[in-house]
Amino acid sequence: MLETNAAVTPKIHVLDPRLANQIAAGEVVERPAAVAKELIENAIDAASRRIEVEVEQGGARLIRVRDDGVGIGEADLPLALSRHATSKIENLDDLEGVNTLGFRGEALASISSVSRLALTSNALDDPREGFRVMAEGRGMEARVAPAPHPRGTSVEVRDLFFNTPARRKFLRTEKTEFAHIEEAFRRQALSRYDIAWTLRHNRKTVHQLPPGDTPASRERRIAALLGKTFIEHARYIERQVGELRLSGWVGLPTHSRGQADQQYFFVNGRVVRDRLVAHAVRQAYRDVLYNGRHPVFVLYLDVDPDVVDVNVHPTKHEVRFRDGRTVHDFLFSSLNRCLADTRPAENADEETVDADVSASGVGMEPGAFPALDAPPAASGRFEQQGMALAPAPDRHPGAARVRRFMQGYQALHPDHEDTLLTPQPPASSAHAVHEPPAAMAAPDPTAAPPLGFALGQLHGVFILAQNARGLVLVDMHAAHERIVYERMKRQLDETGIDAQPLLVPMSLAASRREVAMVESEQAAIEKLGVTLDIAGPETLLVRQLPALLATADPEALVRSMLEELERYGRTRQVEARIHELLSTMACHGSVRANRRLTLDEMNALLRDMERTERSDQCNHGRPTWTQMSMQALDRLFLRGQ
Ligand code: ADP
Ligand code: MG
Repeated sequence: MLETNAAVTPKIHVLDPRLANQIAAGEVVERPAAVAKELIENAIDAASRRIEVEVEQGGARLIRVRDDGVGIGEADLPLALSRHATSKIENLDDLEGVNTLGFRGEALASISSVSRLALTSNALDDPREGFRVMAEGRGMEARVAPAPHPRGTSVEVRDLFFNTPARRKFLRTEKTEFAHIEEAFRRQALSRYDIAWTLRHNRKTVHQLPPGDTPASRERRIAALLGKTFIEHARYIERQVGELRLSGWVGLPTHSRGQADQQYFFVNGRVVRDRLVAHAVRQAYRDVLYNGRHPVFVLYLDVDPDVVDVNVHPTKHEVRFRDGRTVHDFLFSSLNRCLADTRPAENADEETVDADVSASGVGMEPGAFPALDAPPAASGRFEQQGMALAPAPDRHPGAARVRRFMQGYQALHPDHEDTLLTPQPPASSAHAVHEPPAAMAAPDPTAAPPLGFALGQLHGVFILAQNARGLVLVDMHAAHERIVYERMKRQLDETGIDAQPLLVPMSLAASRREVAMVESEQAAIEKLGVTLDIAGPETLLVRQLPALLATADPEALVRSMLEELERYGRTRQVEARIHELLSTMACHGSVRANRRLTLDEMNALLRDMERTERSDQCNHGRPTWTQMSMQALDRLFLRGQ
């Protein structure tokens, strides 16, 4: 009888090694780039000084990684291709402070189960030595044979997915797969400047990167991998606080991109895509980045391996910090400080000279000078910004406070034109520009401040100025808006965030987790001008809000605060919203287009810009000024050609 047979015939059996490895490969080896990544990581772990990656047909036909590392001895070779075989950790304690890129002992076994893999290695200095190993059959038995190889290892992966047709079907075009490999290569090459790298595709060299640990050679490598414009519009950052060290390059806000593709963050040399890190970076750029744009950066965070857990997921590039908050604060404050300093400066010349691009990163090719003949677009922009102020009518509890703040703000910027900007004695040399066009040939233009001296106004929209390098164009509304905004923020920092009680406290349903968090974060929340009482196991009571946000929706504000607190351990919702309000007020209160300014006023604006943090960008992240060098102008007119 069938039932009886079924009961005695065992149904459970152990998978043969190849099948087990193929299943594991399904997770780790999703495409050729994953193979390249694993092989490169092995080469790095082997203390190599030189790593060469050779690819054919997008990696589907061949991926070969060759290194000059420590090699694998003959006795170890049979194990290298088997699963759960590694030389990198021995016990659980090792996992805590693991400082190799690999440690799972799975990669070679997985890859060789879905391709024709041959590993050749020599752990001795004699180049006549060396052995090759391949895994054969369903049991994946290692077959070892002598094969001379210089000291180091070559792993050759041919015909990826030849025995797993379902996987093979998912391969994209050769170009796409190679682009992924190149990206994997890029990340690794950015992580180790002391290693020499080569990448070849279909026998053509794509990257050849000499080693070098000086700042200049690092920048050359970044330029080779990410383009010259990246490094031209990036600023070097280096900061250490206690055990945390951050270094690298952050792109200037005006050199942002439409995609989040040039964002590299390394934690102890390992590339990471982590939401805590991403959040801290986003917050730091919030105030300077145009809506929907993405910053570019190559950043290195070095921490004690004990305080970070890299054993989170084999392919997701996530890490877990023991003290996420401290890391978040450190990243935010370091980047925020670095980005605050984006203003016209004396040394701005070095960044942009010969670059045919403006100081603020807007490309400007000779013959394609875009702004002069496009006034309609420019003026439309101002109308769109001329939105009404948010303060609500008196019946709202916060209205009086907002009005008072607004009065302070208006005092800063009274309406009559002469005192448009904080009055200050004009710099003595400023008088030069009061003279008629002869001033164009000012005797000592190199003595001019970074933004130079005003020459006049263009269609009521732009200020033209002359500095040592040539012509400076300033979008006066955008610039003034930033100046006013930064001033208001500074004022607010000095006075602190005022809390204002709600007339009727508002009760809010919350999860137990949120309630617990409010309990432990009470002090931090209070500091932001928000008072939350715990009114029940799942109920919160909003008692006070920041006076400036009295018109805000309390529920939405509190919810987003709690959400951020929970996800990242920190919240900047209150600050962000207050800044948003200030930004709107600044926009409203700044010089409109078509406002006639005197030369003194223009010069005062230029000097204000030089003093104001973040003044290279307006509150919306657009550039406030641009430079046309004499060389660029010469080219525009084909002079000297
Ligand atoms: P893991 O890297 O997690 O240890 P792998 O399957 O990637 O696992 O590699 C298995 C072992 O083979 C490594 O632990 C290492 O000892 C050895 N190995 C692999 N590639 C190389 C290499 N390029 N040079 C030296 N040893 C290597
Ligand atoms: Mg490995």
